[in-house]
Amino acid sequence: MTTHKGKCFCGAVEVEVTGAPEAMGYCHCSSCRSWSAAAVNAFTLWKPQNVKVTKGAEFLGKFAKTEGSQRQYCKRCGGHLMNDHPLLGLVDVYAATIPTLKFTPGVHVNYSETVLPMKDGLPKLKDFPAELGGSGVAVAE
Ligand SMILES: [Zn+2]
Ligand SMILES: [Zn+2]
Repeated sequence: MTTHKGKCFCGAVEVEVTGAPEAMGYCHCSSCRSWSAAAVNAFTLWKPQNVKVTKGAEFLGKFAKTEGSQRQYCKRCGGHLMNDHPLLGLVDVYAATIPTLKFTPGVHVNYSETVLPMKDGLPKLKDFPAELGGSGVAVAE
């Protein structure tokens, strides 16, 4: 099994993912942009059993504005690590958290909210895929 290690900005919290992600892509929603202070969020989605906090669990902060997204960050440096989506049974370990994983995006979600159009030929969904409770509607780049 392939393992990738990651850490927060200061290194107090370390995480490890095992195997392969269920999906990778970009989220353009205003929540991701606001929390990350970035124009777009590069996500990698994992089954919870494949994600482990291996160091510094005592520094792991959690913030859930909605029950569907339990955002996790380092209380020491403020660096963001991941976002647990318990209703989907998936954890988004931000691509930037695990730099050795080759990021191969397959889809853009919440593209109707984009502030950074990306003409890369990948599918662009208005919100989420139908199998994850979204409309599944595709929009133009
Ligand atoms: Zn930190
Ligand atoms: Zn988002």
